[in-house]
Amino acid sequence: MRKPLEDGNRSDRFDRLKDSIADYIQLKDKILTGIEDEERMEAQKKKIMDRLGATEEQWNDYKWQLANRFTDINHFADLIGVPAEAKEAIERVGKIYRYAISPYYLSLIDPDDPGCPIRRQAVPSPDELSPEGELDPMDESGWTPAEFVTRRYPDRLIIKVTNVCGMYCRFCQRRRLIGETDNNIPRERLKAAIDYVRENEEIRDVLITGGDAFMLSDATIEWLLDSLRK
Ligand code: SF4
Repeated sequence: MRKPLEDGNRSDRFDRLKDSIADYIQLKDKILTGIEDEERMEAQKKKIMDRLGATEEQWNDYKWQLANRFTDINHFADLIGVPAEAKEAIERVGKIYRYAISPYYLSLIDPDDPGCPIRRQAVPSPDELSPEGELDPMDESGWTPAEFVTRRYPDRLIIKVTNVCGMYCRFCQRRRLIGETDNNIPRERLKAAIDYVRENEEIRDVLITGGDAFMLSDATIEWLLDSLRK
């Protein structure tokens, strides 16, 4: 059994937790919520729609959003205030780690804030080329009892059904699997994962993920859910 923490260690641990978000606590009242920042986002949306010649109906259609993702910094740098000298680094990173930003997501980026969190999530950074870190930081390959399954806990697991995403998050922990090519895993290759769930009755939670599982067709999602329920 794990030894309980001594009182001193326990208070160190909680002090460290507090310290780790001290910068956020200082700033939090100045951070606008999406609702408070709506006017700026609407103005960005209009600029992007004008650039793409889009209608409101197209803007609200997720298929149009996916088909019109921005994948070349030269086509959107001015819209989000990327200075000319930063473009080269983004192009360099993008050649190794793909990026694709939907018009909607682009409209959320604050063009006046170089540290905008949405920008950091969506736009490549030269930090990504650091040689430090692990490509498989969670050692998922060591926890794979069947193809496309990762099981770390006694009663739950994940099935990775696609490597397609609507956008490629810069912090993605599955970068080694995501973004190079767009592949939804064919049904016949998912059968081993479904069988594994059926054969292990202690599994009660199955997270269907990837990639973004909602990039699958409705019919495939339904087939997957039906197969797992049986
Ligand atoms: S797998 Fe998840 S974190 Fe990685 S790029 Fe796709 S949506 Fe983002």
